[in-house]
Amino acid sequence: MPELPEVETTRRGIAPHLCGQTVAAVTIRAAKLRHPVQPELCSILPGRTIEGVERRGKYLLLACGGGTLLIHLGMTGHLRISPPGTPAGRHDHLEIRLENGCLLRLNDPRKFGAVIWLTSDPHSHPLLAGLGPEPLSEDFSPSYLEKITRRRTVAIKQLIMNSRLLVGVGNIYASEALFRAGINPWLVAGKLSAEQCLILCRGIKDVLGEAVARGEKTLHSFYGVSERPVYFDLEARVYVREGEPCLACGTEIRRELLGGRSTFWCPACQPLQE
Ligand SMILES: [Zn+2]
Repeated sequence: MPELPEVETTRRGIAPHLCGQTVAAVTIRAAKLRHPVQPELCSILPGRTIEGVERRGKYLLLACGGGTLLIHLGMTGHLRISPPGTPAGRHDHLEIRLENGCLLRLNDPRKFGAVIWLTSDPHSHPLLAGLGPEPLSEDFSPSYLEKITRRRTVAIKQLIMNSRLLVGVGNIYASEALFRAGINPWLVAGKLSAEQCLILCRGIKDVLGEAVARGEKTLHSFYGVSERPVYFDLEARVYVREGEPCLACGTEIRRELLGGRSTFWCPACQPLQE
């Protein structure tokens, strides 16, 4: 599932090919995504120039002369730019042809993605209005983390994955950030000390920031004809390493469900404090 670093890498990969380009045509091959694709897009978008590609949480926002195309990649979606004349592949549900002939395509085998045209401020749309701060921005600070954890009885892993409190920390990066911070995923959020808030805030920024930085090396893969773009190699220290030795201490990494999600941790490096 694309998480924040994958979506940010996508943004960086496609933006240089889109910004300043005018839409020539839109083809919808499958409209039944999580939010049905509006057929009007075929008449709304042509003639509009793409002015910028932003990201908010896991949403991409294409500013197109007076409106915004909001795109979510769902569970399995990816975006890529193909050279003029490239035949459409299986699961290429939406295609935006630019006046230079290049094609922006949304490929989404499981169809959980969303493409929505907005004419009002996208940040006040219900999908975006309630989102918490961006983890890589200054709005996400140790004091903010301390503030949102006070008196909260939910497990810290579930709290940092709550997009109303903080966007973009999915299952993979939550496990990785907690490992780096030496914090047990089941720790009651309200019990985090100020120092733990500082370390965890840094851990979240580090795991996401490092993944985005690794994505710099694969941006070229967003333009081409092959099957799908490459984001980056995830350098996971605990995620899906169940039964393998902890890279820090050698203890076996464990996996258990927390809130229905697989959670990976080192019982020695991340003991559950009382
Ligand atoms: Zn360990």
